[in-house]
Amino acid sequence: MSTRNQTVAVIGAGIGGLSCARQLCAAGFGVRIFDKSRGVGGRVSVRRAETDAVFDHGAQYFTVKDAAMAQEVERWTAAGVVAPWQCRIGSLNSGQWKPTKSETTRYVGVPGMTAIAKHLAVDADLVLQTQVTTIARHDRGWRLFAKDGQDLGIFDILILNAPAPQSASLLNDFPSFAQRIRDAKFAPCWAVMLAFDQRLDVPWDAAFIDDSSLSWIARNSSKPGRPAKPDCWVLHANPDWSTTHLEDSQEEVTARLLTTFWQVLGEPPQQPMFAAAHRWRFALPSEPLEQQCLFDEDLRLGACGDWCGGPRIEGAYLSGLALAEAASKVR
Ligand SMILES: Cc1cc2nc3c(=O)[nH]c(=O)nc-3n(C[C@H](O)[C@H](O)[C@H](O)COP(=O)(O)OP(=O)(O)OC[C@H]3O[C@@H](n4cnc5c(N)ncnc54)[C@H](O)[C@@H]3O)c2cc1C
Repeated sequence: MSTRNQTVAVIGAGIGGLSCARQLCAAGFGVRIFDKSRGVGGRVSVRRAETDAVFDHGAQYFTVKDAAMAQEVERWTAAGVVAPWQCRIGSLNSGQWKPTKSETTRYVGVPGMTAIAKHLAVDADLVLQTQVTTIARHDRGWRLFAKDGQDLGIFDILILNAPAPQSASLLNDFPSFAQRIRDAKFAPCWAVMLAFDQRLDVPWDAAFIDDSSLSWIARNSSKPGRPAKPDCWVLHANPDWSTTHLEDSQEEVTARLLTTFWQVLGEPPQQPMFAAAHRWRFALPSEPLEQQCLFDEDLRLGACGDWCGGPRIEGAYLSGLALAEAASKVR
């Protein structure tokens, strides 16, 4: 069978799913991407609130080590999709902020982190707001069904891009493939978004924190292409705190982490004009797999994401490329 006749379903329009889909399209496959969300990007996500407040409440920025990724990022930069974040970044412990010395370039999507995913999704055959809940073997391919029972069609190859626990939950009838996926473990993260009508008197943009329930705080408004007003901040709780408070309400989490925010800044509390929390149940892979992707040629079933090979945006992107290469060899 030539690749021209082959169809691929990708479950998940995260960075890995999109990079895989784009590469397979370029190789002549007919690719359709399903995502349960309203937009593309997955954990590369932007929250817009009333009063012009904008937050990257998932991934904050990305760095590049791999040569292929570096070439791609050059193209993204030329297209205005990403830009370096010239931030004053450091560590904040016991109230002392120390600048980070590394020369690493930190890139962000412009005007929000989702710009990267939107760019990768240009011309893609996307089916949004559609959660795939059942996958079944069909002759040599796969038949997919949505949450409401809707038949989503038959495809020669199936690619899973959801975080490992979500991908594994679709694979009850394929235990050996599911077991390979279950070896990858995830940690949660509570994120809190705050907007202030007056700029906070803080002389830096971002800080990693070790000795607090918060592990990261950043002035989102300091990123390129974001409105300077209101003054928007994103806080991330560390994995231990997020695990302990996983089932707390958004209101409780917002209140607790707001208190901690003022404590770590050493500033008297102020009333934000906007405050909200978002729970990332599967935020970051705590134990990723060593393989860059999984592919079973007999089943014509693959999986990719940041939990394969290397974590984070770069890892997810490269995992998608690796899976596209593996799947392209199917005859
Ligand atoms: C709080 C936080 C901070 C982070 N900070 C950084 C950072 O600073 N730098 C960095 O590089 N990375 C960071 N990351 C990690 C980065 O966001 C991820 O590594 C990367 O975005 C993962 O992409 P992915 O392709 O693996 O999948 P995901 O982004 O998880 O995408 C999976 C997609 O699958 C969809 N999906 C799941 N199940 C189904 C289903 N059954 N049917 C249909 N669709 C489904 C989801 O809606 C989602 O869109 C952060 C992540 C979080 C949460």
